[in-house]
Amino acid sequence: MIGKNGLIFLLLGTFCLAASCNSSKLGQSKAETSGEESSQKTIVEEKGYDDMSEKVEKTDAEWKELLNDEEYYITRQKGTERAFTGKYYKTKEEGVYLCTCCGNKLFDSETKYDSGSGWPSFWAPLPGDKVAQEMDGSFGMVRNEVTCARCDAHLGHVFEDGPQPTNLRYCINSAALKLAPKTEEEPGS
Ligand SMILES: [Zn+2]
Repeated sequence: MIGKNGLIFLLLGTFCLAASCNSSKLGQSKAETSGEESSQKTIVEEKGYDDMSEKVEKTDAEWKELLNDEEYYITRQKGTERAFTGKYYKTKEEGVYLCTCCGNKLFDSETKYDSGSGWPSFWAPLPGDKVAQEMDGSFGMVRNEVTCARCDAHLGHVFEDGPQPTNLRYCINSAALKLAPKTEEEPGS
């Protein structure tokens, strides 16, 4: 026969067991949630950009299909948008600027500055050879053309009159860029 005290003890024990079981479950689900990726749709998903590791090669007709007229003219035909007309020249929003053609991550908003030129200006691209440079002798000037290393999109030019610490000015067409606004910290980066 169990006395009154024994019964209370038993009940208490069961309660403690349930409580400790509960709390460990709670801890587990918390860990699961923090590991989950944000369900918010990113620009990369919206635009349907594919695997970022491979070089992108498309025919002229395919690019024309994918891009609007201005994007096509600037990125595939080395055009230049008129100064002070692009959508990003005075943007101060934090984020990463992607290649509008292939989604390659090109510039961080941290390196963007107001050069007064009327085009988005950066003093450095993101590391990892995302941006390629080649000599451009058109219009009787020798300029360094800047292209996307992944899909060869024309982005703009780089000049040596930028601010510290690089003294470079990457003068980029807005139409070649897509800003992916900074969300919460990306896991694992
Ligand atoms: Zn690209």
